[in-house]
Amino acid sequence: MEPDIEEIFSLTKNLKQEEKDLIKKAYDFAYLAHKGQLRKSGEPYFNHVFATAKNLAELGMKEKTISAGLLHDVIEDTNTTEEEIRKEFGEEILSLVKGVTKLGTVRYKGIERKVENLRRFFISMAEDMRVLAIKLADRLHNIETLEYVRPDKQKRIALETLEIYAPLADRLSMGRLKGKLEDAAFQYAYPKEYTEVKNLLEEKKDAKEKYLIEVRDIIKDKINEAHLQNVIVDYRQKHLYSLWKKLQKYNMDIGKIYDIIALRVIVNTVADCYHILGIIHGEWTPLPNRIKDYIAMPKANGYQSLHTTIFTGTGGIVEIQIRTHQMHEYAENGLASHFIYKIKELNKNSEIKELEWVTKLHELNTQEEDDPEKFLKKIKLDFFHDRIFIFTPKGDIIDLPEESSPIDFAYAIHTDVGNHIQGAKVNGKNVSLGLKLKTHDIVEIQVNKNTNPSSKWLDYAKTSLAKREINAYLKEHSLLSKFLSFGKN
Ligand code: MN
Repeated sequence: MEPDIEEIFSLTKNLKQEEKDLIKKAYDFAYLAHKGQLRKSGEPYFNHVFATAKNLAELGMKEKTISAGLLHDVIEDTNTTEEEIRKEFGEEILSLVKGVTKLGTVRYKGIERKVENLRRFFISMAEDMRVLAIKLADRLHNIETLEYVRPDKQKRIALETLEIYAPLADRLSMGRLKGKLEDAAFQYAYPKEYTEVKNLLEEKKDAKEKYLIEVRDIIKDKINEAHLQNVIVDYRQKHLYSLWKKLQKYNMDIGKIYDIIALRVIVNTVADCYHILGIIHGEWTPLPNRIKDYIAMPKANGYQSLHTTIFTGTGGIVEIQIRTHQMHEYAENGLASHFIYKIKELNKNSEIKELEWVTKLHELNTQEEDDPEKFLKKIKLDFFHDRIFIFTPKGDIIDLPEESSPIDFAYAIHTDVGNHIQGAKVNGKNVSLGLKLKTHDIVEIQVNKNTNPSSKWLDYAKTSLAKREINAYLKEHSLLSKFLSFGKN
């Protein structure tokens, strides 16, 4: 039986009739084009493109992207020509389908394949975010049907998903998609660890849940008493793969992880968030150092929430996350929820300047023509590495890779500040320029017009931006001094 198009319609809110008609047209076109083709699972191939379109609808994408999702394999895998797509669906949908096709035809081995994939992702991301969304939706269905793929290929595809696709989804704040990709890939990439974590979770879950329900019911009563409107209180279980990553940091001691299951309170306004935090801290004792205000200080991908962890008073410890409906939507679906597809539009929209890194990455990608290994190293440092947040004395936040130094900070502010850095104060104390900064340090840079970069600075610099600027200065300077000394002779 063919898949029911109503499943797609029911996932998309407020579709107009002409938008439904477009999706239906793409559905029929793809159905015919793929007719007779089978997946490795023995299912009709059409089921794959249908699942891709459904993932896109779930992500909150609109009719053109959903249609392109249905059509994403017709150029590569059927006799359909670009001309036909243009004629039937227009230039915009054709460009989305071509974008996905271009991303998909990379055939490299090992590290080169990975780097080439990344390069293409960045380019397409800069051109049109929707192409990336389609590729991620496509990958999700492929990874969910990985059992039908040859075992030796399973592991490679699973690792690629964990190392490239999931971090990209994370960086675009597509939290739900990221979780699904990781959990589907985890068992193929690390089967032993997957089983171990799964069992561990099963063991602890019930006890944790008991405390959670206890706390939830009290919070619900308090919210009613406070007459707060439109509040959702529920809880979510941590994804297996992110639980595993966290366990590794804590020596596999699950007793140290408090958010295996976390309570979630979703409210109307930012003021309501702090109001509820107040109610919670009035009722229970919070654990010290576990209160995080990601509303005032969002994560690098734009994630916002208040987090706190409390003693239930009955022997349990529970983490609670508080956010507005809008923040929740952004955490789950990210960029898709903004309907902003192009870098150019992104720059105009100051609200989401958290996503400056997309622009930065694009610059990095177009500037550097290094060999693949170097490029990957840079990307890993600047992109996939954990980030720290440093304050200027005025309270502006600069987002840097872990282990960055005052030199990196200075160059992140401005090239001139970097090039003339004489000293640095961290939290009011003079420090060495090579100090490794920590999140929430307040850094003040002292500048002197007569100080210039030296090769020693390269040892302290962590970001490719700082290294590039220092090298550029040193190169120019050594040429100049050769020229000057030549003149003297
Ligand atoms: Mn596909």
